[in-house]
Amino acid sequence: MIKTVGVLGAGQLARMLAQAGRPMGLDFIFLDPAEDACAAEFGEHICAGWDDEAALAELGRRADVVTFDFENVPEASASLIESLCPVYPPPRALYASQDRLREKTLMQQLGIPVAPFYPVSSRPDLLDAVAKIGLPCVLKTRRFGYDGKGQAVLRFQEDMERAWQQLGGSELICEGYVSFQAECSIIAARDRRGRTVFWPLTRNLHRGGILAISTAPAFDTAMQTRAEAMLLGLLEHLDYTGVMALELFLVDGRLLANEFAPRVHNSGHWSIDGARTSQFENHLRAICGMPLGETENTHRALMFNLLGAMPAFAVQPSADSADIPGVHWHDYHKTPREGRKIGHVTLTASSDAALRARATQLAAILGVAAELNLEAILAESGA
Ligand code: AMP
Repeated sequence: MIKTVGVLGAGQLARMLAQAGRPMGLDFIFLDPAEDACAAEFGEHICAGWDDEAALAELGRRADVVTFDFENVPEASASLIESLCPVYPPPRALYASQDRLREKTLMQQLGIPVAPFYPVSSRPDLLDAVAKIGLPCVLKTRRFGYDGKGQAVLRFQEDMERAWQQLGGSELICEGYVSFQAECSIIAARDRRGRTVFWPLTRNLHRGGILAISTAPAFDTAMQTRAEAMLLGLLEHLDYTGVMALELFLVDGRLLANEFAPRVHNSGHWSIDGARTSQFENHLRAICGMPLGETENTHRALMFNLLGAMPAFAVQPSADSADIPGVHWHDYHKTPREGRKIGHVTLTASSDAALRARATQLAAILGVAAELNLEAILAESGA
């Protein structure tokens, strides 16, 4: 029987895993180098580096199963633990996702449509890639890029030198710029026997490379079926266990894959308040060998990410925020810092009209209405 879950990483994703797992009777041990890691209040925290072999071995000996909350855990660390206890998702999924070139190549091999891409390690490579792809295109670091960091859009020939100066010290990938009509993500949970469930395809809006809003349900059955088939190919190829998210671009009625995350994902946070079973609970059910829960929406849901600091009225509710029905605040208890993901708020409603009204009201209170063009995302998603 599984009693103790080990987690590599103790950020907000690990925190929400533990919040889902404690009522299931699970205990948590986290390994994370950050002294003030925000999941620590929900379990024991081993404060150590990702390559600290003694600490990794302690986690592997004491946990019944180990998972991770971010994908840049060194594969060697995950493999060391795997010699002591089961690790889910499998480290080969980490390996595939840690390098954008490997990731895109795998998706292409599996027949999952992606924008054209070429590896770039030198100026001549860059010239060659831009000549083949055409402008605009996007230059990205192959590793350690997240939330739009480590990437530059090239629109004109003159942008090439600036982008090379900015990123040229790393191994790079150059990909076609996708003039998408919408961004979306499909999230699945696959159990140890290979049974797979999918949450409704989620519409996402990014600002400055960072997720700003997610809303679900947002697409018709035909689009859902196509997105599920793309993700299923990856899950089966990797003989995957746990939750995986696939980020997609919708362009001219076609879906193109951007990247996959072998973990619970920011665009699935709405599932805590808006789905029968959250992504966090189903990830734990999958890795612990339990049957998966249903994934349908219980309500229409829309999530705003909160960056920098929690709004004062969320921490100390005021008349304004209390007035909006269907508001669910999630504070990660992190030290405020410019641009840092500090919490999220999910709105739920039983009708499109109510969700729209509540979202407009909340966006105005948060002071993000104009910047996020909320009307457009709600109109396009059909909410
Ligand atoms: P990523 O780090 O690859 O998830 O990129 C972060 C965000 O940058 C994406 O959600 C898109 O909004 C944008 N982006 C990334 N790659 C492309 C691309 N090839 N074409 C257009 N936009 C992109």
